[in-house]
Amino acid sequence: MQNVLLSEMTWPQLKERLTRHPVIFIPCGATEQHGPHLPLGVDVYLSTAMATKVATEIGGIVAPALAYGYKSMPRSGGGSFFPGTINLDGSTLSHMVRDIIREWSRHGVQKLCFFDGHFENQWFITEGIDLAVREIRNPALKVMRFEYWDFFTTQTLQQVFPSGDFSSIALEHAAVIETSLMLHFHPDLVRKELIPDNPSANPPPYDVFPADPKFTPKSGALITAAGASPLKGKIMADQAAADIATAMRKTFDAS
Ligand code: ZN
Ligand code: MN
Repeated sequence: MQNVLLSEMTWPQLKERLTRHPVIFIPCGATEQHGPHLPLGVDVYLSTAMATKVATEIGGIVAPALAYGYKSMPRSGGGSFFPGTINLDGSTLSHMVRDIIREWSRHGVQKLCFFDGHFENQWFITEGIDLAVREIRNPALKVMRFEYWDFFTTQTLQQVFPSGDFSSIALEHAAVIETSLMLHFHPDLVRKELIPDNPSANPPPYDVFPADPKFTPKSGALITAAGASPLKGKIMADQAAADIATAMRKTFDAS
């Protein structure tokens, strides 16, 4: 199988690969607490693993991930109260995205995909892409962005939550979805005996600054992770990767 990881390629290998106009994937993660059972790098591990799966299928290249993300918020990431949650300001993240697009564009790349695995990154990645596209003004440049979980179908979510207890993607922090995907891709990094089973966080429908730690469950998981399994992780990964590959072919082959 052909290697898809940029970090493992030499420049002559990359030069040769670029003649085939591959999509360049940039996984977008965070350094953020993920409960007592998952490592701080979950959003990097999962965006990279999913991007690698799709890139392998469509002949893309996975560039190094953004390992830091926009600020963890209490209602979607548990907030910044836990050791090891290291946040970027929004403008820093946007400018990193803009600079990366500039650089790939300078090397003649016209197909880029920001593959997001951290909820709070969404609008700052969007802003960075918009700044770059506005500046570069190359009609042939195409940039895609998404959160991989938005590709999960209703049928997949029914298989992952058979008793119909799916709450929301925001609350799924360090819970069944991320734990199952980690059990599938990186089982050695999951402390299975510490998988939390706390009741759902019940935050109000607004934010307050400074944030109030009492809206975040003590475990750091926003809802139970007890139903996680490697099989559920595989079901989500296979379905989403297939549908992402289809969407990417549609986006990039059309040009
Ligand atoms: Zn996460
Ligand atoms: Mn996150």
